[in-house]
Amino acid sequence: MAVSRMKLIPAVDRGKLAVVLQVLRDHYGPRERSGSRDPVDELVLTILSQNTSDRNSGRAFRLLKAAYPTYEAVLAAPVSELYEVIKAAGLGNIKAPRIQAVLSQLLARRGNFDLSFLGQLPLAEAKSWLTSLPGIGPKTAGCVLCFACDLPVLAVDTHIHRVAQRLGLIGPKVNADQAHDLLETALLPAEVYEFHVNMILHGRQICHALRPECGRCPLQELCEYYRTTVVYSPA
Ligand code: SF4
Repeated sequence: MAVSRMKLIPAVDRGKLAVVLQVLRDHYGPRERSGSRDPVDELVLTILSQNTSDRNSGRAFRLLKAAYPTYEAVLAAPVSELYEVIKAAGLGNIKAPRIQAVLSQLLARRGNFDLSFLGQLPLAEAKSWLTSLPGIGPKTAGCVLCFACDLPVLAVDTHIHRVAQRLGLIGPKVNADQAHDLLETALLPAEVYEFHVNMILHGRQICHALRPECGRCPLQELCEYYRTTVVYSPA
């Protein structure tokens, strides 16, 4: 009998996850949503943010909004011109045609650039609608649904993926797409937003990709990486 790969991956330890959430809340504070972006703005911004810093993608997004009064104008622009406008985000040769392909699909499927209907759909349907757009994966879909539609969807970025692996919440071979499903299933809907924001903060401020600052980490006692790599240093 066929067994899916996801079934072979251990589920997240809910008890440990709850403690991680509490420690992060004590350290970084509780998180509440503070207003939502327009879903299409969030979609375009998230495309711009692929493989670059928030600073670069934020700058490119502001330049795009200043250059074009509407998304119709973004779609109608020569791709080489759009490339020039957004090049601060890097990979403009991929991102400019991707943005236009997505906008073109929105227009073809919906007749406009209004994605607010996604907030009314069942979660799985909303995810599947977004990930059927060209170049849109679970992370981008998660950002749109979480930050613009107020839905309890997790977007696993590089920080969340790394910190969750080091803590041992997910295994070392679990990829980011699998991590979306595993972590989201283990979180309560009301916890998703705070987990997302505080895990990213932790990845940026303490659990850096290179040289994590374990000595000042509030999650030290819960961390597999600390237990097996930092504390245990064979001669
Ligand atoms: S103990 Fe170190 S590796 Fe573990 S979460 Fe903290 S900073 Fe990251």
